[in-house]
Amino acid sequence: MIKCSAGTAKVLGLKELKTEALPTTAYLMTGERCSHDCSFCPQARGSSSRADLLSRVTWPGYDGEAVLEGVARAYASDSLKRACLQVVNSQDALQETRDFLRRLNSKSRIPVCVSCAVGSLEAVGELLEQGADHVSIALDAACERVFTDHKGGSWSQKHTLLQEAARQFPGRIATHLIVGLGETEAEMLNTVQEMADMGVTVALFAFTPVKGTRLELQEPPTLDHYRRIQAARHLIVRGLARAERMKFAGGRLRDFGLPGWREVLADGEGFRTSGCPDCNRPYYNEKPGGVMYNYPVPLTPEQCRQALEELRLD
Ligand code: SF4
Repeated sequence: MIKCSAGTAKVLGLKELKTEALPTTAYLMTGERCSHDCSFCPQARGSSSRADLLSRVTWPGYDGEAVLEGVARAYASDSLKRACLQVVNSQDALQETRDFLRRLNSKSRIPVCVSCAVGSLEAVGELLEQGADHVSIALDAACERVFTDHKGGSWSQKHTLLQEAARQFPGRIATHLIVGLGETEAEMLNTVQEMADMGVTVALFAFTPVKGTRLELQEPPTLDHYRRIQAARHLIVRGLARAERMKFAGGRLRDFGLPGWREVLADGEGFRTSGCPDCNRPYYNEKPGGVMYNYPVPLTPEQCRQALEELRLD
């Protein structure tokens, strides 16, 4: 069985769903209940959340063959451009991932990212050799302090693995960073800069409280905090600004250190979902009709104007 995000199941023709934005990447998941215990994750060992949740999205399970055939068809017809496999950590996770890649690659040439708890450079290399286009090694936390509070385990081990993987497999490593776990904007943007300098693809997420997790009662990040980090990430990865030239006061971003930033950000691209090419994650952090942290489609001129205001920078 393979689980798909509800939007993915709709694209694959497996589920009826009313939605304003469809995913351009197939979001797939294998396994259930992780051996790790991250404070924010419904799949965590200690969470009592529904087992079919990841972030606020439901992931119904379907026959594996039907999912893989559906992904191959949707790629051939251009309705999907990428597949992203999230492997819930267990003893068999690596073997499950290898099997998945072999099966999918026998049906389609769709680019695939894999997000699983790899523990070594060899394991990363193996997944890339088996046909993964990107391997995501999720830091989730912006710094060691937040990592220790919310994930446990060794920050330095994960950080070193990311550094070494980025060096050995340039352009093929991604990471996820979650905004709203208690980091300052300076801490987050220093890490974004470091990742960008290493050639690591940075995907930003907004912390989303989910019932049954340790953080179920914590508020999501304020929109202005998220917008500043999101816009700064956009400027950093395009090489237009650098974290060390930005100005902060009490950890809050006050100045991008880039004259003319308003014009650069006016097309709204900096407020869209970030990460691997064609990853739009509709409603992953957003309730339909609620606060749009990440826009899954190009912004309207009115949304661009509003997003610039939401930065709360003069
Ligand atoms: S950025 Fe998107 S496609 Fe890439 S690993 Fe993360 S969720 Fe998957």
